[in-house]
Order: sequence, then structure tokens, then C-alpha cells
Amino acid sequence: MGSADVLVIGNGALGLSVAVEVVRQAPETRVTVVGPPQRPMAATPAAGAMLNCFGEVTRYTARHPAARARFALARRALDAWPNWLDMLVDTAGSAGKALRDSHVEGTFVLYGGRSGLVAGDNFRAMRDAAAAHGEPHALVDPGTVEGLSPRCDARPLQVLHLEREGCVDARTALTALEAAARQMGVHLVPGTVRDLVTGASSVTGARLEDGSVLPAGTVVLAAGAASSRLADTVLPPGAVPPLLHGTGVSLLVTRTTTSLPGTRHVLRTPNRAATCGMHLVPLPQTGQYYIGATNLITTTPITGPELGSTHSLMRGVCEQFDHDLAFGRIQRLMSGARPIPLDCFPLLGPCSLPGLVFATGTYRDGFHCSPVIARHLAAALLCASDRDPDPDLAPFTPERRPIQVLTPQEAISDTIEHTVDTLGEQGMNLPFWLDCTPVEQWVRRRVEELYEELGDGAVLAPELIYPQFLAPRSTDDTRALARVAEYLRAAQAHHGTASPPG
Ligand SMILES: Cc1cc2nc3c(=O)[nH]c(=O)nc-3n(C[C@H](O)[C@H](O)[C@H](O)COP(=O)(O)OP(=O)(O)OC[C@H]3O[C@@H](n4cnc5c(N)ncnc54)[C@H](O)[C@@H]3O)c2cc1C
Repeated sequence: MGSADVLVIGNGALGLSVAVEVVRQAPETRVTVVGPPQRPMAATPAAGAMLNCFGEVTRYTARHPAARARFALARRALDAWPNWLDMLVDTAGSAGKALRDSHVEGTFVLYGGRSGLVAGDNFRAMRDAAAAHGEPHALVDPGTVEGLSPRCDARPLQVLHLEREGCVDARTALTALEAAARQMGVHLVPGTVRDLVTGASSVTGARLEDGSVLPAGTVVLAAGAASSRLADTVLPPGAVPPLLHGTGVSLLVTRTTTSLPGTRHVLRTPNRAATCGMHLVPLPQTGQYYIGATNLITTTPITGPELGSTHSLMRGVCEQFDHDLAFGRIQRLMSGARPIPLDCFPLLGPCSLPGLVFATGTYRDGFHCSPVIARHLAAALLCASDRDPDPDLAPFTPERRPIQVLTPQEAISDTIEHTVDTLGEQGMNLPFWLDCTPVEQWVRRRVEELYEELGDGAVLAPELIYPQFLAPRSTDDTRALARVAEYLRAAQAHHGTASPPG
């Protein structure tokens, strides 16, 4: 095969969207996408594919320029999806039509007594953001939400309706993106990249597991959580924040009871401490429901669904959303790893090594943001003056010192709040006369020890800490902290001292 102008490594939502957008903007460009057809542990096939912007807002969204930039990206994606869907419907034939049929409008965000303090803050932040930005929204009576039938002790206290936010079926979207890419002349290569190939001073292609080489003018790294392994061999230590694996479990189920209708809209909780919002998503084209998702964050990959978190997800959805689902039938159990940079912000655009461009690190809303990220990267790849890369995405330049939203002191106290909330959600039950103070004291001791090991000035997002660093359960877990400390030292040597939160 001849050399490609652009070789995309990774056949998930990001890689395929970038490929489609590059050819859409410049049809003469020769684009190849390489990835394994089964996509083991990829994020996209396991995703709920909620198209949520305001639904993802947290108490941190307004606190830092980079967090505001990420929110702006998600807002633009909310506006971009109708055209993006039309484009896929027009280009992807029957797969595009199936995607349109899977599109659901409307999200109800539920805030209940079972959620912790952090989820409460996030719910208020989301409502305030919707009001501040003129986004159509309404607080509605929980009793009027069709398909919501929680256990009586798990009824929501407040429900926010976001009418423009919905979802599509992620698995159908991948089929449609592949069909659109083929139709537009993108070359799809089944295979796994072993390593990047470099010339005198640039990346010139990729070598596959079978030893063959795919030469290219520019290589786009869109291999999800596996991207760090490839980048680390060609970039200096500490240059780019490493990707953690945010393993999420999700299920496809059918309802078997007909006494009450199932939901026709997305039902979700706010993002909660240490995890993502729990959600129930109807898939109208199949009659199934998607249940998601857990978020177990580790520095090395894990290989499949974890029993404990899967159990707590299934129980939470039946108790808080739809108790009839307890009689449902599981059609499929899925798991995939969200690509989470250590500082939790995306890695988008070129780096100092010519020929290498990043398209990853999107954490929990990369599917939603994919059309805008694809446009940004297409502009960067095509280097055309009328398609300038988006300046709002500048904070996500991959080669950066880790972005710090919190001061070290704030990080410690927020980690305590997040951890105590998580323990509550996972079943911690104290005697009625005891508040959480003893638990908070235990967590504080552990977090302070942990920060001592990490060294001066280190800050990690609170959701990264529990359980891997606070309650290590394997030798790999105990090595994880040393790996993070080593990266932070290397980042400091490479970039200089971290800037304080802005
Ligand atoms: C359970 C779950 C629920 C989620 N829900 C939502 C949601 O509701 N809304 C939302 O917007 N986002 C959601 N996300 C996040 C979203 O899925 C991701 O941000 C996004 O899909 C990432 O896409 P990607 O293409 O970067 O990565 P991936 O989907 O992981 O794709 C990477 C691809 O690269 C391939 N690859 C890996 N290594 C190599 C290699 N060496 N050579 C070649 N190819 C390779 C993989 O096989 C894979 O196909 C969810 C994620 C999970 C796990």
C-alpha cells in the first residue's frame, strides 16, 4: 500500500470522526484508519453515547480556564450534532438511517437523597449553568416523568429536564462512521499498531503487530487509553500527561414487564464523586435499554467487568430509576476504558515531534464532543488558513504540564468529600447516632500520607484517588502511586514548576 497523507491509529469514535472530517474538508487527502475490528476494551462500544453538555457540568466547570474551555467545547458539540447526524444519514446509507432511528431527545437529571453532597453541588451547578447560558431547561415534578418508577425510598428530590440533550446508540454510530468513512474513500485497515516509526526527526508511520509498516505524512494518535503506550516510546518522559484507564461497565437489557412503560428519554444522575452519572438510556430501534456506567480508574488496563461495581450499578438503576428492570433480561454485558489523562483534560493537536498529532484523552464525554474535536483536528491537519485550529482548544495541547484546577489544600479536602460520598453510595452505613467525622479523619490521614509520597505541590483530581491509591488491593495498585510520582517528577523536570490554579 502507498503512503497515506494521514494515518489515524484507532477506530473508535474519535479516530473515525477525524478521518471522516478530514476527507469531508479536503476530499483529495489520502486517509487510512487502522484498528482491531473487535475493539477490545475500547470506550466507544461500551458508551451510553449521551449527547450531554449541561448534563455533564460539575462544581468544577466554572473554576478554571481549562474547565471553562472544555465546557465551551461541549456546548459547541451540542449545536453541532444535528448537522453531524444529517451528514452521517446522507453518507452512511442504511447504517446512517439506523443511527437516526436510535436518536433520542431529552434528558432528565435526577437528584435524590441517595446521592452525596458532591452530586448535590453538581446538580446546582448544572441548573445554574443552564440558566446563565439561556439553555432550555425546567425543574419538573418527579411524579410527571414518564418511565421513572423508583423504589419509594429512592425517589428523586429534584428533577431537571434538559430538552436539547439526548443520546444515540454508540454501537450503531460506529457502524455508521465506518460506512461513511468507506463511502468517502477512507482506507480501513484491520490490525493493531505495535509501535510508531520515526525518521530523522519526525514520525513517519506505524508498525503493525505482524511487522508490516504503514507509512504516512502525519500520524494521528486516537488509540484511546492505549495511546500513552505508543507515545511514550517517541516522546521525552513527562512531556505529555499519561492516560489512565477509566474502566466502565454497561449493560443492554430488555424489559419483560408491561405494567408500566419504560422511559422514552435519557434518565441520569449528575456526575457523582469518583464516578460518572448513572444512566438509563432507551434504544428505540432495538427495544432495548442501555444501563451505565461504572468508572474504576487505574494506571494499568484491567481486562473485564468488575463484579462489585457491576452489582452496585445494576442495583442502583433498579432502585433509583425503574424497579421493573429487576425482572429484565441481560442481553449484553460490556466494558471499555475511558481515556483519562492524569490531569483529566483532553489531549488534542500536534506536539513538538513533527508528524504526530493527538486525538484522545476525552474521559467521559468524548463521544458527544467528537464532531467538534474532529473539526478542530482536521483544521490542524490540513493547515489551511481558512480553517484555523480552534483557539478555544489551545489549553488541551498535549505537551503541557499537568493542568491544576485545585490547590494542594483544596485537593486534599475535596478528596475527603468525594471519598466519603463514594463510600456512602457503595453501602457504608453508620449507626444513626454517628456522623461521618471518624471516616473523614481516617480518609484525611490516608490522603495526607499519599500526598507526602507524591511530593511537594502535587495535585490529583479527587476522583482519581479512590480506590486505587487509598485502598490498594493488588501489587499493581501499590506500584501505581510510584508510577504517578515518577511522572510528576519527570513533568516538573520537562516543563518546570507547575503554574498555580487560574
Ligand atoms: C461505559 C462508558 C460510558 C460512556 N458514556 C459516554 C456518554 O454517554 N457520552 C459520551 O460522550 N461519552 C461517553 N463515554 C466516553 C466516550 O466513550 C469516550 O470519551 C470516547 O468514546 C473515546 O473515543 P476514542 O475513539 O478516543 O477511544 P476508544 O473508543 O477507546 O477507541 C480507541 C480505538 O483504538 C483502538 N486501538 C487501541 N490500541 C490500538 C493500537 N495499538 N493500534 C490500533 N488501534 C488501537 C481500539 O481498539 C479502539 O477501537 C463513555 C465511556 C464508557 C467506557
